Amino acid sequence: MYIGCHLTIAKGYKRAAELALEVGANVFQFFSRNPRGSSNKELDLEDVEGMKEILKENNFGPLLAHAPYIINLASHKDRIYGMAKGILKEDYERLNQISIPYFNFHPGNHVGKGSEYGIQRIIDGLNEIITGNETTMILLETMAGKGTEIGRNFKELKAIIDGVKYDDLIGVCLDTCHIYSAGYDIVENLDGVLEEFDDIIGLERLKAIHLNDSMVEFNSRKDRHAKLGEGTIGLNAIKAIINHPALRDLPFYLETPNQLDGYKKEIELLKELRD
Ligand code: FE
Ligand code: FE
Ligand code: ZN
Repeated sequence: MYIGCHLTIAKGYKRAAELALEVGANVFQFFSRNPRGSSNKELDLEDVEGMKEILKENNFGPLLAHAPYIINLASHKDRIYGMAKGILKEDYERLNQISIPYFNFHPGNHVGKGSEYGIQRIIDGLNEIITGNETTMILLETMAGKGTEIGRNFKELKAIIDGVKYDDLIGVCLDTCHIYSAGYDIVENLDGVLEEFDDIIGLERLKAIHLNDSMVEFNSRKDRHAKLGEGTIGLNAIKAIINHPALRDLPFYLETPNQLDGYKKEIELLKELRD
């Protein structure tokens, strides 16, 4: 089972891999740059090699990079749109250079222009960013649907995928907190939700799970992560998710409100809940 959590690379990639070992993880997620989007530090290839040795020796699963939150690839404002493309392009190149398998981002907000408009902006942006020579896959994250967020349902994600030229480099990252808030009842009807995902997008596109409980009620369109078992999703549903035949071989990344010791406990708990 591949289970890990979000970790910082502020002190380097190798240090992040060491932290992963400390919490009992065999995968992890990190921000591709500072989450508020400030400029990239120069890449330290020796540090990356140090990380890779640890990953190899400990049979790690695929690492997942997360784009900064502030970018909006659906924006109608050229400055904001240009910044989103610039950051995604630069980070995507870097992640390819160091062979990180997955790069996840929040599709964007149409800010009143309508989701069709926003989806087309995202498609155009991705078609500028992806040249077809990459190996890193870009993952679209399922969103809670707050405000004018795009990615609130499987159809919107499918529409993006359909517009991307090199769509073999596009996948989906399913966030359990987000889809529960978006109105997909993974507590009462996990099989039905996954069938719908398969019908609309295709389960072969699903590459990663953000495993979070939720502080808010079902279908609330809000995005508030909770610790496992302390939210509206609950441990029974979490147990069903990590053991589901369609999901169990995917990598799971915790984004619960925790420090390292909290992550360590949740990872232990998940190993106990695994059939
Ligand atoms: Fe996210
Ligand atoms: Fe997430
Ligand atoms: Zn979230």
